[in-house]
Amino acid sequence: MEKPTLYIVATPIGNLEDMTYRAVRILKEVSTIFCEDTRTTRVLLNRYDIKTSTASFHAHSGDSKYEKIVSMLQSGLSVALVSDAGTPGISDPGTELVSFVRECLGSTVAIVPLPGASALVAALSAAGIPSHEFIFFGFLPHKKGRKTLFDEIRSVDRTCVFYESPHRIEKALESLSGSGKKITVARELTKTFEEFVSGTAEEVLASLVERKVIRGEFVVIVSSFEKKVINEYNNDHE
Ligand code: SAM
Repeated sequence: MEKPTLYIVATPIGNLEDMTYRAVRILKEVSTIFCEDTRTTRVLLNRYDIKTSTASFHAHSGDSKYEKIVSMLQSGLSVALVSDAGTPGISDPGTELVSFVRECLGSTVAIVPLPGASALVAALSAAGIPSHEFIFFGFLPHKKGRKTLFDEIRSVDRTCVFYESPHRIEKALESLSGSGKKITVARELTKTFEEFVSGTAEEVLASLVERKVIRGEFVVIVSSFEKKVINEYNNDHE
C-alpha cells in the first residue's frame, strides 16, 4: 500500500500550458486540492478538466486547517497543495504546512514535490547572467530592513535576485541607481508581454517609464557587468 501523500504541486506563472503531465494526473487523483485562492486555481483546473474538490489554504490559515490536513493524511487520503502561481513555498504559503506535517506524521506519510514553474528559475534561465551561485531575497521588506538589504545587494559580489511588485519597482530601481551593477528585469514571464530589460538601474527605469510598462509582475536580477562565468570557463579549458 502506498503511503498517504502530501503533494506540493507547482502551477503555471502565467501561461496555463506550463503544466506537467504528472501534475495534471496527480491533481485528478488526490482527494482534495488545497489552494491559496480556490477561484484562481479553478481556472487552471477547468482548463485541464480536473474535477477534484478544492479547499483553501493560505498564509492566514489557522491551526484548524493544519489539523484538518493532518487528519486527512492520517485517515489514508492523499492531498495536494498549490499556490496561485509557481512553486508553493517559494515566497508563497507551504513551508509551515510541510514542516507541521513532517513533525506530526513523520515517516507515516510521504511529502512529494511536483516540480514545475517558478518565476525565479524562469527569470534566471533566460537572463544570460551567472547563476552558478546566487542569493535569492524573495520579496524585500517594505520598510524595516529594506535599506540594509539594498546596501547588501549593492555591495555583494554575487548575483542577487528578488521579487518586486509594480507598486515598488520604481523605488527599488531608484535604490539601485549609482550602484554600477547590471540590472535585469524579467517582466510578465510566460505571458503575452514577457520581456527582459537590462542595463544600469537608471537605464532600466527610464525604459520602463518611457514605455509606460510599470505594471505586471517583476523579477529583478542584480549582477556584475563582467562576464565571470565565460571567463572562468575559458580559463578552465585553456
Ligand atoms: N511561488 C511563486 C514562484 O515560484 O515563482 C512566486 C509567488 S510570489 C507571491 C509572486 C511574485 O513572483 C510576483 O510578485 C513576481 O515578483 C514574481 N512572479 C510571479 N509570476 C511572475 C511572472 N509571470 N513574471 C515575472 N515575475 C513573476
